[in-house]
Amino acid sequence: MITALYAGSFDPITNGHLDIATRASTLFDKVILGIFATPDKRLLFSTEERVDLARRAVAHLKKVEVRSYSNITIDFAKEVGAKVMVRGLRMVGDFEWEFEMAMMNKLLSPDLELVCFMASQQYQFCSASLIKEVASLGGDISGLVPKHVVEALKRKGVTPSR
Ligand code: ADP
Repeated sequence: MITALYAGSFDPITNGHLDIATRASTLFDKVILGIFATPDKRLLFSTEERVDLARRAVAHLKKVEVRSYSNITIDFAKEVGAKVMVRGLRMVGDFEWEFEMAMMNKLLSPDLELVCFMASQQYQFCSASLIKEVASLGGDISGLVPKHVVEALKRKGVTPSR
């Protein structure tokens, strides 16, 4: 049985994230979508809101479980029994940071393997921060996030949070 951890801030969950979670769930027995409670960036949604939005987005994916965490990701991976860490890579921009983090994680937790999925073509430019910005300016983001996330963004009356 292989459990994979897909960790991030998910502020909010997007169709790009959902695509990675869906693809990961075809490879692994269980996928924990781990929502980091206190990332080093300004958040629009509280931890509870991010968990709720993600849970509703993955409700149809029986192998995916949403949990929040506030310790270091490698420790959370151990806690949930994950052998694999899943990440998504968009264009070249993500690579440098993901590579740096992968090297550090390998040093700290040598048994944890990393599996990177290339972002699907239609979600290459889809980032939570850009979505929040576009939504705040009144742009149509309905193809990039689940319906209930569009509603949640409207309720927030979003202002960009970069
Ligand atoms: P974001 O970068 O959108 O704020 P997170 O910090 O929550 O998202 O990212 C969690 C993981 O999901 C990272 O590995 C990130 O590269 C990946 N990811 C984010 N958006 C996409 C996307 N559109 N397609 C594929 N992977 C993505």
